[in-house]
Amino acid sequence: MSKHTGFVKGKGLLVVLSGFSGAGKSTLTKKLLAEYDYAYSVSATTRKPREGEVDGKDYYFVDRETFEKLIAEDALLEYNEYVGNFYGTPKEPVLGNLENGKDVILEIDVNGARQIRKQYPEAVLIFVTAPSARELAERLSGRGTESVDVVIKRLTQSIKEKDDALSYDYLIINDDLEETAKHLNSLIQDQHMRLSQQGKYLDDFVKEMKDLLASLK
Ligand code: 5GP
Repeated sequence: MSKHTGFVKGKGLLVVLSGFSGAGKSTLTKKLLAEYDYAYSVSATTRKPREGEVDGKDYYFVDRETFEKLIAEDALLEYNEYVGNFYGTPKEPVLGNLENGKDVILEIDVNGARQIRKQYPEAVLIFVTAPSARELAERLSGRGTESVDVVIKRLTQSIKEKDDALSYDYLIINDDLEETAKHLNSLIQDQHMRLSQQGKYLDDFVKEMKDLLASLK
């Protein structure tokens, strides 16, 4: 444990970022990674790459057989099927980064988040949305990367996700990318002040105080 201004930094924080499809999660995450010091968990997926997506950076693009092997080998922290494709979080890099004190961002869906919360109750769950339903629909169809059918499926999915979203710790409305990224970073950094992250500090403090008092006798 090292002492920092304002808080004691121990293990890294597990940060789950979910949101309605089209809310701008990926852009937001990219901004966060470019400007601050976070580790990003690259998921494995059976979805085909979109234009511009890079294997090993945006996702590990794998076939169904490889994905099933990852499940069988217990190499995933969580996984889920979303609109016809599998998505999962490789376990090892996440646990390694947390152990090294790095905060890790998991950009996953509500089902994955539920699995993470069960295994890691100390994880911070943040839900990202667009300012309005209309704006979300416009962003999603404006992206032009999916067929109308898939866009409709994704919009319909957002209705189903509302109840899950209510169980998150925070809701952040992404209207201005710059501002939202700043708020998101502050929010994550503030989590380091949670007592669950710093309990050991009080143990050490009291031990030191007892030694100090003993030396005065
Ligand atoms: P997209 O196809 O738009 O990249 O992602 C579709 C959905 O899958 C998004 O809600 C995204 O957050 C989610 N997702 C991406 N990676 C993972 C993962 O590793 N696990 C789970 N459960 N969901 C994921």
